[in-house]
Amino acid sequence: MRYISTRGTAPVLNFEEAMLSGLARDGGLYVPETIPQLTPDQIAALEGRSYEEIAYTVMRTFVGDVFSDDEFRGIIARAYEGFGHAARAPLKQLDQGHFLLELFHGPTLAFKDFAMQLIGQMFQTALGRKGERVTIVGATSGDTGSAAIEAFRGLDNVDVFILYPHGRISEVQRRQMTTPSEANVHALAMDGDFDDCQARLKDMFNDFEFRDSVRLAGVNSINWGRVLAQVVYYFSAAVSLGAPSRAISFTVPTGNFGDIFAGYIAKQMGLPIDKLVVATNQNDILHRCLSGKGYHKGETVPSISPSMDIQVSSNFERALFDAYDREGPAILQLMDELKHGGFEVSQGAMQVLQSHYSSGRASEEETSATIAETLKTSAELLCPHSAVGVKVANEQRVAGTPMVTLATAHPAKFPAAVEAASGIHPPLPARMADLYDKEERVTRVPNDLVALKEHIRRHLTA
Ligand SMILES: *Cc1c(COP(=O)(O)O)cnc(C)c1O
Repeated sequence: MRYISTRGTAPVLNFEEAMLSGLARDGGLYVPETIPQLTPDQIAALEGRSYEEIAYTVMRTFVGDVFSDDEFRGIIARAYEGFGHAARAPLKQLDQGHFLLELFHGPTLAFKDFAMQLIGQMFQTALGRKGERVTIVGATSGDTGSAAIEAFRGLDNVDVFILYPHGRISEVQRRQMTTPSEANVHALAMDGDFDDCQARLKDMFNDFEFRDSVRLAGVNSINWGRVLAQVVYYFSAAVSLGAPSRAISFTVPTGNFGDIFAGYIAKQMGLPIDKLVVATNQNDILHRCLSGKGYHKGETVPSISPSMDIQVSSNFERALFDAYDREGPAILQLMDELKHGGFEVSQGAMQVLQSHYSSGRASEEETSATIAETLKTSAELLCPHSAVGVKVANEQRVAGTPMVTLATAHPAKFPAAVEAASGIHPPLPARMADLYDKEERVTRVPNDLVALKEHIRRHLTA
């Protein structure tokens, strides 16, 4: 399996190289050259199997010969053994034909654990056998960083530096990043918002001297290994609701477009998906774009669903690449226009996008009202991100086709917003109840590339 860049000029890589490098050297994102197919019989055979077995079948071809069959089975087993639920991604019914896919039973209570735990184990196996080290730098609006730190803490071959926007993440998110005591993890509170953090991260990757000298590796949601891990639960959910003999729809609380793009890959592989619905909060650049209004950056407005507070949605570039017939130069030009504020999507590309994705948005009031309403009607306490999804899913679902809304985080990760909406303070699961008692360790850093590079160089553990 070979991976190519969305901007057309970076070297073609195998799975391991694409996973370790993250962003391509031409500034693009890696995508598989071709998408492997599962036949309806192969999909039907997934029904009733464990999450780990489904993961193996769905991902095996994408990985190629980078890992042996046994190595890959071991990686998957270790990735999910720390989850607090035997089904890993259990489905819960909200209403007739509406289901919640609970993706928050991992160690940091958000769906990002599915991908991060897997690539932690893949990095460990790939680097360990070569005796190599990498420096992982990530930017986070909250959940990526804690998931990365949890997945890489104490691993021999990596240092992890996580940039988060100072004062703009929840206390649980911050504590999950600042309380691990392993020397190889470094939480950095940066002045600015998430888009600033993401911009400085991109700058570091585009600084080839720095990138090569510290062997920079990326685990942000653009990492192909992460997108791949998220394809699995579309299959596990769909087969337990009757796929492939019936089509299933999904609504996905969306920020950087990684999770929903994984759904698109599942569909390309042959899973019968009817609608793939992008649900945004008030930072609705994707909803505006998919409604035909072009892709134009605005100001990021802080919301009660902070992990979706973005204006530039990195993985959307992968969707655009397919919509523009995989023409790198076209994507390069759009991304150039984006630097100056935005771009219009061509009519042909818009038709392709709209054939795959629907969209909707939820205001702050609608999000809070959905938390209260869902508690009343379904006895389910949603996190604000999941509530954005449920609100949009309720508008988009049609009789006869099951709708699955992805519940992307546990309500206890966002206790203030959940309590304000529902009157209930959501408790942390017992296995992490001591989070508020642990000591925090964090460095405040400026929104400045030179200072950041300097800090990272000085704090490498080897
Ligand atoms: C990251 C995150 C999202 C957005 O996912 P993307 O893959 O970036 O679209 C939604 N909800 C929660 C809780 C998240 O952590």
